[in-house]
Amino acid sequence: MKYDFDLISIGGGSGGIAGANRAASYGAKCAVVEQAQLGGTCVNVGCVPKKVMWFAAGSADIIHSAKNYGFDVSASAFDWGLLKQKRDAYIKRLNGIYGNNLSNNKVQHIEGTATFIDPHTIQVGEQQYTAERFLIATGGKPSIPTLPGAHYGLTSDGFFELETQPKKVAIVGAGFIAVELAGVFQSLGTQVTLILRGDQALRQFDSMLGAELMNAMQHQGIRVETNTSPSAIEKQSNGQLTITTANGAIKDEYDEVIWAIGRQPNTDSLAIEKTGIELDKNGFINTDEWQKTSQDHIFAVGDVTGRTALTPVAIAAARRLSDRLFNGQTDRKLDYKLIPSVIFSHPPIGTIGLTEQQATEQFGTDIKVYTSRFNPMSQALSTEKQPTVMKLITTGQNEKIIGCHLFGENSDEILQGFAVAIKMGATKKDFDDTVAIHPTNAEELVTMT
Ligand code: FAD
Ligand code: NDP
Repeated sequence: MKYDFDLISIGGGSGGIAGANRAASYGAKCAVVEQAQLGGTCVNVGCVPKKVMWFAAGSADIIHSAKNYGFDVSASAFDWGLLKQKRDAYIKRLNGIYGNNLSNNKVQHIEGTATFIDPHTIQVGEQQYTAERFLIATGGKPSIPTLPGAHYGLTSDGFFELETQPKKVAIVGAGFIAVELAGVFQSLGTQVTLILRGDQALRQFDSMLGAELMNAMQHQGIRVETNTSPSAIEKQSNGQLTITTANGAIKDEYDEVIWAIGRQPNTDSLAIEKTGIELDKNGFINTDEWQKTSQDHIFAVGDVTGRTALTPVAIAAARRLSDRLFNGQTDRKLDYKLIPSVIFSHPPIGTIGLTEQQATEQFGTDIKVYTSRFNPMSQALSTEKQPTVMKLITTGQNEKIIGCHLFGENSDEILQGFAVAIKMGATKKDFDDTVAIHPTNAEELVTMT
């Protein structure tokens, strides 16, 4: 049978675009279907605008600490609206660049929502398209709880639409988005309450990271309410929001409440039942190690698969898939082990490999843990100290490094190079044999005893 395309990517975000561009570079006839702006979550309501806000917050922090170096400066005004305008313009430019790249690569951009008609055909608007293979990369969307008044709250999508800076916000959640938004708001002058259902933030990571961050957040003036969960949100006559919890009300009023309680897969519009593809119990698309779904010609990458939900992961999985399908690289696939990640909290966190708890579960007493806690030299002239903490976890006689967890300034930039070494199987001796770069924070990783 002759199909319209060799490959159609459904979703023009990180994974879908990467897969189609790579396949087209090998001569495949490709299309990307996108129902919104090109670039997906990362470009429009994720990594990119978030990082702009993180830079803005960092600028506020620098102004605050400049007095330590003899500057007489203060931020007399901060124009949230102007920042948003500039950020939106930057993102619009990126949307255009993604469009140009698709057309330069001869990938057709189909605008609209794709719905399966049968396993080889999709409908977009009035038009039907057939393809030999499909790549589903439809990403995810923020979860909103089902409780009275939940609709008064925003999600991270709504955060990026805020035209004015709220004076007071409550953020519900304890993961990546909750702590990143909490840090941004607080540094920019919004008063933050963080509401956690457990006793610690970032519970999926090494416990050192969450514990240190909780201390730092409280030190910065963030009010942290642990072991509690909203049961209702009410809007008062003055427009302010109040929060009721199972154990009483959190006695305060907020301009905004933000849900940051995880994300769910975007599969509703696909009519997935027409394909016979299997979903897991949470609605994510089941894929094997080759990104293949339960249909041989339909593949899925990125957030919709429920595997590590990071942009470089979606891109890497999609490119490797196209290398395999369209360039004969038969063994090419993404190895999901030892993926480094950074949390753009205040200060940032970099983490790779096993947590101490996981390492103990896996290797018992055959692990050795090195930690270092120090005040970075950048704060030597300041009375305010924010310690940096680093942890290395090793196993075996040769002390192979199986976990590296960094909390403190520049951790976001330090981790990448160390991740290369760890992925290559570096041992503690390899680290020790590497001459330090002085004076830096990173040197601590090669001088730990
Ligand atoms: P997406 O990028 O979400 O793309 C999916 C696209 O599919 C969307 O554009 C959607 O409109 C489209 N679509 C859905 N259904 C259909 C349909 N039926 N037809 C047509 N189009 C459809 N990751 C990092 O690595 N670093 C970060 O700093 C980072 N920060 C983040 C901050 C926030 C606030 C959020 C929410 C996420 C962040 N992420 C970050 C995660 C990252 O954005 C995602 O992992 C990544 O975007 C996933 O790519 P994807 O291709 O799977 O899906
Ligand atoms: P996460 O999975 O990181 O965290 C979700 C949090 O929500 C958990 O801490 C969980 O708490 C809490 N939670 C879940 N359900 C409830 C509930 N009903 N009430 C209260 N709290 C609840 O999700 P995010 O939404 O923060 O981020 C989604 C994904 O996007 C991340 O997993 C990450 O992959 C990606 N991302 C990456 C970033 C980066 O690379 N820097 C930045 C932002 C997002 P508990 O611990 O108590 O279970």
